[in-house]
Amino acid sequence: SGINGNDGVAPSLDVAVVGGGIIGAMTAIGLRRRGINAVIYERAPTWHEVSAGFSFTAAARAWMEQIDPAVLELLGSISQKTDAGSSNAYWNGYHPRTREEAEDASKSLLFRTPLNNLDFWGCVRSQFLNGMAALLPEGAVRFGKRLVSYDDDEQNGKVLAHFDDGSTAEAHVLLGCDGIHSTTRRLLLGADHPASRAGFSHTVAYRTMVPMDVGIAALGEKVARNACNHLGPGADLLVYPVRRQGIPLPPAQALRMLTFPTKVMSGTLLNMAVFAHEAAEFPDPDKMTVPAARSELEQLFRGWSPPLADIWKLYPEKMVKWGIFDLEQNPPPTYARGRACLVGDAAHASTPYLGVGACTGVEDALVICTLLQAVQQNMKALGGDALRDALTDALQTYSRARLDRGRWIHHHSRDMGQLYHWRYGPTGRDPERMKRKLEENWAAVVTYDVLAPLQPDDVRSGMA
Ligand code: FAD
Repeated sequence: SGINGNDGVAPSLDVAVVGGGIIGAMTAIGLRRRGINAVIYERAPTWHEVSAGFSFTAAARAWMEQIDPAVLELLGSISQKTDAGSSNAYWNGYHPRTREEAEDASKSLLFRTPLNNLDFWGCVRSQFLNGMAALLPEGAVRFGKRLVSYDDDEQNGKVLAHFDDGSTAEAHVLLGCDGIHSTTRRLLLGADHPASRAGFSHTVAYRTMVPMDVGIAALGEKVARNACNHLGPGADLLVYPVRRQGIPLPPAQALRMLTFPTKVMSGTLLNMAVFAHEAAEFPDPDKMTVPAARSELEQLFRGWSPPLADIWKLYPEKMVKWGIFDLEQNPPPTYARGRACLVGDAAHASTPYLGVGACTGVEDALVICTLLQAVQQNMKALGGDALRDALTDALQTYSRARLDRGRWIHHHSRDMGQLYHWRYGPTGRDPERMKRKLEENWAAVVTYDVLAPLQPDDVRSGMA
């Protein structure tokens, strides 16, 4: 068996993956590679992701390779790799008074952090998702299926998922990969549980991508060609290069990808994100974005150094502002109950200030694939009740293995947002302290051994 799931001989676990985002797709690929019959139920009519940039650490890429080497190969084929020996640079976005000063490292560079295992590879989100979609066989995903409830009745051999079109689906296990506003989390914890809703981090993001030459003209060569963050009071501007490139797709897949942008810029682009503190509540807590005018950015950076003060000009006149929500105020007390569990942002939605929200979901995906593979390998020996118990145990093990890590990530990510915005008490505006704090956190991000919390019994046989 392999990517096509059950080979028809060995009994196969049926897994319902709720949500076909980055983590749902990756989890389904990893499960199918292990001979598990994973089917994605996605509420949207087709694959959809925004055309923004994001990136994965070298540590996350190592876990990705264990999930399925094809996923890493895909990422490698569409992403902008950082040069070996380069570093992340943090510039003072506030004080330099002239463009020359702003581009002069001796005057404006606050500090650099070495890449080590961070070593981000940047790609375009929609391209990565579409590429993963092409790795899944026909029939591994059902669109237009919004989960509304599920029954996890002990008497039944399977969990029954109900969708808003009145249809149902059965599976041995239900994995909620349905993102920050997860329905699965609400059902698993109960609608009244505080963790059933994500909280506003009181920060917002304004994102765009521009051709590299435009980015260089605005920020200078040294800045635009590297991963750089510009720090200042109450806001920061993060830039890094991403590559956008067409992926050859089989015609059937290409037809399904209705959201793939028709006017595609290709080549190296500069991904830009302004993050800003916002004292007011977000206008609509159920939406990720609200319409915004670029004049908000003009106002935000008034009085900053010249490149920052002019950055609004690179944004479209009408755009959206992203509310940054996370689970920091009300983290789930568990990621699993019965035969259902939470994976990816559904479990530990984080602010993006450590840049590893999806990387943390990759870790989840590897752990859940490993644990379910062990149950699958033992399936012949497990009768109805024993199988249910084995699955419940596996999901509890998953939750125990992931809970502290998820919480650590969203907690420290919030701290880093404060640090970038010069609002974090322990570091203030001191570059040396900021550097030390960041390096301490990055080290914890990339040296974590994802499979270490599992016992040999949990993992009967790993996948090379
Ligand atoms: P999602 O991407 O939210 O996918 C959830 C899917 O579930 C969607 O397709 C949705 O339609 C579907 N769904 C929802 N409800 C239902 C339902 N009831 N029934 C069926 N389907 C449903 N992370 C990084 O590692 N690196 C970065 O550089 C990075 N940059 C970021 C920048 C910003 C500005 C932000 C906000 C986040 C960033 N992140 C980054 C975090 C990353 O975006 C998320 O961690 C990641 O997208 C989570 O993926 P997911 O699949 O868990 O959830």
